[in-house]
Amino acid sequence: MSNGIIAILLYFSFSIMSLFSTTLLDWYDKNKRDLPWRQTTDPYKIWLSEIILQQTRVVQGSAYYERFLCRFPSLQSLAEASEDEVLKYWQGLGYYSRARNLLIAARSMNGVFPTTYDQVRSLKGVGDYTAAAICSFAYRMPHAVVDGNVYRVLARYFDIEVPIDSTLGKRTFKAMAEEMLDTSRPDIYNQAIMDFGALQCVPQNPDCNNCPFRDNCMAHKKNTVSSLPFKQNKTKVRERFFNYFFISNNDYFYIHKRDDNDIWKGMYQLPLIETSLQLSTAALIEMPVYLQWKDKFEGSDLIVCQYGMKHILSHQILYINLYELSIKGEMPIFDNYIKIHKDEIDRYALPRPIEVFIEKKLHRLG
Ligand code: SF4
Repeated sequence: MSNGIIAILLYFSFSIMSLFSTTLLDWYDKNKRDLPWRQTTDPYKIWLSEIILQQTRVVQGSAYYERFLCRFPSLQSLAEASEDEVLKYWQGLGYYSRARNLLIAARSMNGVFPTTYDQVRSLKGVGDYTAAAICSFAYRMPHAVVDGNVYRVLARYFDIEVPIDSTLGKRTFKAMAEEMLDTSRPDIYNQAIMDFGALQCVPQNPDCNNCPFRDNCMAHKKNTVSSLPFKQNKTKVRERFFNYFFISNNDYFYIHKRDDNDIWKGMYQLPLIETSLQLSTAALIEMPVYLQWKDKFEGSDLIVCQYGMKHILSHQILYINLYELSIKGEMPIFDNYIKIHKDEIDRYALPRPIEVFIEKKLHRLG
């Protein structure tokens, strides 16, 4: 443990921790959210809810949780599912590696959910936060959760400027969270601090004047609330330019599975030409790959679609243009694309922009 961490831990006294915990649990008693996965100690259901809720709002996550649990009520039923079906149930939630990891982990458990922290932590897709959440909620083990809410609450309450995305910051906040944990009721304490961060100590403009910590919160006293927690690195955002083609003849069109190690892995998309810049239609149709397509689909008509869109992911901004190629005559074998009938599309998991486009398109086709 570094001198920095020790210095911060020495900063606490038993009375501060006790006051913090009592005040927090009192707040939680009056304000807690009634969430479906809080009515259970079944580790499978808790694991499922925690994976769904990563990077997802509670309202959206709840609907997916209910639907997912209805289709996969047990670890065994999930382990026996196909990746295509799991991705289909995940469609629209984003961060699809979560769904793939969920399936890999389910298959690795042989029908029995692990019961120690280290075993839970070793599951595919489970990090420190998720392992602590599962073990404290399901088994009442004394492991503190450290998520974005916890970073924010602790950074502000103690006015700590150590960057949360630095190695020192991660170790410092982890050690603090473990010290602050009420080990007599770790499940309730962990839920309380996360709810407090989600509902009261929110990222922008928290209502400090009506906060039970207002007299003790160091950041409130020092007027540093808006700058905490502190981050040293801004996330780099990559811009990408996707040109999709709806290549069809009557009710049939081509799709294919994304199998590269990239966004939307395992999901289905339309034929794609990705470019390094935003290209005009005139420039796009001069590209060698498009000229090959044109040869293959001789006599087809190119239509520029209305559905150009910007789609924002956590580290990427996608600029998506959609084109239509209406084929005359038979649809030939086309690279690794598969030809499907419009009524078959519900079998395939689609990234949200493709889903939106196809819904509009098929609605128009009737
Ligand atoms: S006083 Fe403000 S900054 Fe401090 S814990 Fe309460 S809401 Fe958060």
